[in-house]
Amino acid sequence: METTTRTLQSCKRIALVAHDHRKRALINWVKTHRTLLAQHELYGTGTTGNLIHQEMGLNVHTLLSGPMGGDQQLGGMIAELKMDMMIFFWDPMNAAPHDPDVKALMRIATVWNIPVALNAATADFLISSSAFNQPIDIHIPDYESYLKQRLK
Ligand code: PGA
Repeated sequence: METTTRTLQSCKRIALVAHDHRKRALINWVKTHRTLLAQHELYGTGTTGNLIHQEMGLNVHTLLSGPMGGDQQLGGMIAELKMDMMIFFWDPMNAAPHDPDVKALMRIATVWNIPVALNAATADFLISSSAFNQPIDIHIPDYESYLKQRLK
């Protein structure tokens, strides 16, 4: 597929998501990096976003709760280029009712090539990158040429 360049601005729209058994770990991670994260625009699925807001007073745009459609909302925002990064502490040890939505979210984040952390170590790498607070170019599918190809 042909690609084009998308610039992620210094101030990033960051999605924060955690499955139930991983919520405490994500909250602790957010506490550790609170000062840096507060310089960005934060989004969260319903329960995760509300917990972060309640515990830390950070402004978080909350979507629907994951099992109620929040993961799909987030996937839609990624496809519309309205999200720049995702920190998703998912639970590899337990099945969730919305596993198909989780898979779809990971897939669409990969299609649109946004930086994604699925565990704490990768989240640490992302937040310690110089690109976290600076504009950065990423390669994304060239949708116009994709459409033309499909018509052939
Ligand atoms: P929640 O959703 O923040 O509403 O718990 C997270 C998820 O399970 O995707």
